[in-house]
Amino acid sequence: MAKKKAISLEGAVKTDEGLSYKGMIMEEIVEKCEGCERVAAVEGGKYCPAYAQPAMKWAHGVCNFATHVRAEVDSAGAVKVNPLKASKRAARGR
Ligand code: SF4
Repeated sequence: MAKKKAISLEGAVKTDEGLSYKGMIMEEIVEKCEGCERVAAVEGGKYCPAYAQPAMKWAHGVCNFATHVRAEVDSAGAVKVNPLKASKRAARGR
């Protein structure tokens, strides 16, 4: 039996302001979101069910909901973004 996705944008409506979901206006994902498993395609656009404003999420560093990259702080205190191994993602995507 197919497992239902935990988060979806079911019921989202396209409005003049953008995609409206549960009273929030969802903004389209940004370039850095590409590859993230949470990205959901709705009405010809790509949106994030976990965060209404993906650009804001990345403006503060690495998105903590991202499934495709992980932030690590190195010994110098700099934030490094590491792509996650595809095999790990596949293992989790059960
Ligand atoms: S979880 Fe983060 S990286 Fe993934 S689509 Fe949403 S904002 Fe983008």
